[in-house]
Amino acid sequence: MVVPYTHEPFTDFSVAENKKVMLDALKQIEADLGKEYPLIIGGERITTDDKIVSLNPANKEEVIGYVSKANKEIAEKAMKVADETFATWRKSDPKFRADILFRSAAIVRRRKPEFTAHLVKEGGKPWKEADADVAEGIDFMEYYGRQMLELKDGVNVNSRPIEHNQFNYIPLGVGVVISPWNFLFAIMTGTTVAAMVTGNTVLLKPASTTPVIAYKLMEVLEEAGMPAGVINYIPGPGSEVGDYLVDHPRTRFVSFTGSRDVGTRIFERAGKVQKGQKWLKRSIIEMGGKDTIVVDKEADLELAANAIVQSAFGFAGQKCSACSRAIIHEAVYDQVKERVVELTNELSAGDPYDNTHFLGPVIDQAAYDKITSYIEIGKEEGQLVAGGDGDNSKGWFINPTVFADLDPNARIMQEEIFGPVVALAKAKDFDEAIDIANNTDYGLTGAVITNNRAHQEQAREDFHVGNLYFNRGCTAAIVGYHPFGGFNMSGTDSKAGGPDYLVQHMQGKSTSEML
Ligand code: NAP
Repeated sequence: MVVPYTHEPFTDFSVAENKKVMLDALKQIEADLGKEYPLIIGGERITTDDKIVSLNPANKEEVIGYVSKANKEIAEKAMKVADETFATWRKSDPKFRADILFRSAAIVRRRKPEFTAHLVKEGGKPWKEADADVAEGIDFMEYYGRQMLELKDGVNVNSRPIEHNQFNYIPLGVGVVISPWNFLFAIMTGTTVAAMVTGNTVLLKPASTTPVIAYKLMEVLEEAGMPAGVINYIPGPGSEVGDYLVDHPRTRFVSFTGSRDVGTRIFERAGKVQKGQKWLKRSIIEMGGKDTIVVDKEADLELAANAIVQSAFGFAGQKCSACSRAIIHEAVYDQVKERVVELTNELSAGDPYDNTHFLGPVIDQAAYDKITSYIEIGKEEGQLVAGGDGDNSKGWFINPTVFADLDPNARIMQEEIFGPVVALAKAKDFDEAIDIANNTDYGLTGAVITNNRAHQEQAREDFHVGNLYFNRGCTAAIVGYHPFGGFNMSGTDSKAGGPDYLVQHMQGKSTSEML
């Protein structure tokens, strides 16, 4: 019997002992910097001459690791292995598969400081964010393991007196899992283990900026007893191996988390039936957001300002759930704006190593260029009231930036920036605030700060986002508590860490026996 699921607690780094453990872990992992990591296909370690270089975004001189790089030939080999392994893995006992996840969760929990320290280095995450990322990865393993145990005997259906009917879920086949760099452990782990625990075999292609953490997950799963060939680790450039894997006729489903451009491309390509393909591929696609906090006139304004600042600048705004727009009732607009600016000016961006800055770096030069170009656009479209500058001499740092007085249709109110930039706009009443909140192509997260119950209920019905929060920020969903995923151009309406998630990786089979 497994104990009921509860989420992994966060670490309080204000406790001296916890701080010391973390500093020690950061020192310890320095010995691993610059190591080489092979691909893993069918349990075999494969080294290529061509390497992905993973850098510390807070210090571009520091190489986290040199990772062997898959190309089309290697991807083909991995596909063959995954396809062959599926013949046996699909029949494996779901309890065995769930046990691998419970053991893996225990291993990561034991090595938590090391994993957290690694995310500080490879992802540029401040301690608190890195700790939450590791906790979420553990949660996915614990939660999906339990979900599989619930689904393993199928769902009850009716039988007439002359028959015995059953409805069971069976796996799909080979899944291609393509993950982003921002939740480099949690999302990569969650999407991979969901595909595996449901009886599929997996080709795991992590983001090229953060491939080392995925190698570490492979080691954990192997230690926990995962057979060779079930998950195959094939980092490689999305532009090179991505299309190949998505188009492959033996790919049964694609589980992707990342940008809208790549997500819509995958959705389209996976929809085309290739020569020799005998199924319609399934696509589980999680994309970006343009997430809004609405502030009503009857509201705790201090809470509102804090919710905006925390949600906008946590992990330098590089969360799909980050608050990138606040729509504020005109009666309280000036007060909220002033407080947001005050709170923002208290924050700084810097190397997360010693835990003294609220913001770390952004992930790479391309992100730095994109965000700073949006800051220039913001200067044309609104009033710059905080931040607006950056420094990419050592790492890629951008100061938390606030623009005020935006038109709801301005580009920085519509397009995902994915950095520490928030735009404020005024609404004449609550109805207009909700209309503006809904006026993007996305529908991922949102929050409403209000003490007006009727307005809360109105937002519950009309604010069209997958994750809606009241009187708190719009980030920090917890597995099993806040199933996560968006509407419209934010994805295929699925909910990671929720009760329906695993079923997307399976197909229902009805059997009927005459008695
Ligand atoms: P990205 O550039 O779309 O990359 C995501 C993954 O797709 C990477 O592994 C990337 O590989 C791969 N890729 C690139 N081109 C590909 C292609 N043609 N075919 C197949 N795969 C390809 O996104 P990102 O910058 O890593 O992540 C940030 C985005 O993710 C933001 O838009 C954010 O909102 C979104 N996100 C959404 C959620 C959610 O739950 N809805 C959660 C987290 C992040 P390479 O690294 O090799 O290019």
